[in-house]
Amino acid sequence: MLNIGVLALQGDFAEHAAVLRQIGARPIEVRKPEQLADLHGLIIPGGESTTISTVARASGLYEPLREFVTHKPTWGTCAGAILLAKRITGQAAHLGVMDIAVTRNAFGRQVDSFSTDLLIEGFDEPLRAVFIRAPIIESVGAGVRVLARLPDGRIVAAQQGHLLATAFHPELTPDKRLHTYFLEMCHQQRVVL
Ligand code: GLN
Repeated sequence: MLNIGVLALQGDFAEHAAVLRQIGARPIEVRKPEQLADLHGLIIPGGESTTISTVARASGLYEPLREFVTHKPTWGTCAGAILLAKRITGQAAHLGVMDIAVTRNAFGRQVDSFSTDLLIEGFDEPLRAVFIRAPIIESVGAGVRVLARLPDGRIVAAQQGHLLATAFHPELTPDKRLHTYFLEMCHQQRVVL
């Protein structure tokens, strides 16, 4: 069984943990550095990226987290994707490990939140994606694979080796395919603990 951490400082970590349990992984809510030790992967949930970053610094988690995401499977959803990005429009990066540029709150007021069917690379059927004050991935570096775009071409999911970023919230819909995909990434990069 894979131990998958869910960073549990702020945001919708409980929803991710519930999905992980449903697909046969062992979710571990991470609040302290030592809880990173025996994880096969980590999810950084949606919420408020500035708050998550501030609380991580205050609780001594920031540097251990940066070390973890540098080489172990990590999936950032929404605020989590912002935390992973190397470039954030108009502000300094947080963990800055993934070669993507993001813009926060990229959708206008009227569409602060919306859902839409997305074609994800490698998936047969579209996935219903929920966007909540979501970022957009403006551009990706050479080693980054784009996994999904909105109909207008804007990037909303990408992968760079052990790093996965989605601008939307797959933990808020019954479709578990993206969580299963991430577990598969963790399996492939599994190290014997
Ligand atoms: N707007 C949030 C931020 O910029 C992200 C929103 C979310 O995670 N749903 O951090």
